[in-house]
Amino acid sequence: MTEPQDAEARRKIPPVICYPVDTLPRPNLAAYQAVREGWQKVDEVIVPPREARCFSVPAGSFFRIVSIEGPQVGDLNLWAAEDLNERFFSGKTRALHGTHLSTGDQLWSCLPYLRPMATITHDTLDWYGFDEFGGSVHDVIGTRCDPYTHKLLSGHEYHHCCHSNLTRALADRVGRSRESVEPAVHDVLNVFMCTGFTRDTGQYFMKASPVRPGDYLEFFAEIDLLGALSACPGGDCSSEHSSDVAVCHPLLVEIYKPKTRPEGWAPAPRSSYSRKHGD
Ligand SMILES: [Zn+2]
Repeated sequence: MTEPQDAEARRKIPPVICYPVDTLPRPNLAAYQAVREGWQKVDEVIVPPREARCFSVPAGSFFRIVSIEGPQVGDLNLWAAEDLNERFFSGKTRALHGTHLSTGDQLWSCLPYLRPMATITHDTLDWYGFDEFGGSVHDVIGTRCDPYTHKLLSGHEYHHCCHSNLTRALADRVGRSRESVEPAVHDVLNVFMCTGFTRDTGQYFMKASPVRPGDYLEFFAEIDLLGALSACPGGDCSSEHSSDVAVCHPLLVEIYKPKTRPEGWAPAPRSSYSRKHGD
């Protein structure tokens, strides 16, 4: 196609932010930080390599995803504890906070609920920023590795993709069949994963995660949560996923209960939109 004469002028139009966040209610991070003092670790869950495990976090408590033993990427799903229909909405979270999350960003639930499910309160990888390739950590741009895409691209079956791991973990947790809970598994927060889009072709890329044992991502639960974390078969995602090739390590989930609620905090209400949708 030939370019129009004003092609350059059109390209030069400056972008506008789709969702300016000046009106977005912001969490009081200082109040959250204050109640970490003297908190108590009340539970922990080890997620074995190429598997997933569920965990519960009451509203007002914290949870950490911790790197242990070696670099490893984790795929996180969140549901409202009492209702699997309310789940993490990675697409809207991306639209509000950007492609990669860090301290102060919130994980929003799907429509028609649209409320913060969790707030990131600490990120030991926040030093990474964006690298020369446009890569950064903790993305909401990927989905999760899954056996359907793998079959499509390779013709082979592999049963320990994050999608399958999350499906098995959720089925075990709620005592239902894998088939019945599979639709509740959703696009993830890619914890510790280093990703971006190539500048020339716009393709989704991954590269070796900078995470090291001792690093963690910490969240405050805004509502009662059921979480599931998969230790991705891609390991540190430096080469490939959807196979048993990569070196994988376990991940640790820790639950912390503070002595008090953060000052002025209450569990987030569901969206107050009337749901009339017009005439
Ligand atoms: Zn994965």
